[in-house]
Amino acid sequence: MPVKKIVTIGEPILRQRANEVDPNEIRTDTFRRMVEDMIETMRSAQGVGLAAPQVGMNRRLFVADTSAGPIALINPKFTKMSKKTALYEEGCLSVPGKYDSVRRALEVDVEALTIGGEKIAFTAKGFFARVMQHEMDHLDGILFVDRIKEQNET
Ligand code: ZN
Repeated sequence: MPVKKIVTIGEPILRQRANEVDPNEIRTDTFRRMVEDMIETMRSAQGVGLAAPQVGMNRRLFVADTSAGPIALINPKFTKMSKKTALYEEGCLSVPGKYDSVRRALEVDVEALTIGGEKIAFTAKGFFARVMQHEMDHLDGILFVDRIKEQNET
């Protein structure tokens, strides 16, 4: 499976709101291959998450692997975010060499479509919740460095 090139800060696609994926497209071979390539790319870069805009695709899709095995979430939404937050160091494959503490909700309720086209809903906690929020930000054109700026201004 081909490893895709990860775009870095400065590329306009990282600043765009990504488009919803058409549910009819999800079960196609092309789509499945695209997701497999993203997982492969995330692994080879030793990342815990990778959003479609990071490989130049303007789609609401990300992959993550925080130890339980890789998952792909399509058209994800948060239905709830905990008021309780935590500060923890983050980095980003699209912002090489930069690491800083970001405040994020401790828990998020996620709804999304799977690679099989099924609707799933689950609660993510701790580090997994953090990765969900970091990747969701990518789909809205937000980078973790923006969150640090925000924190410092308030
Ligand atoms: Zn990132």
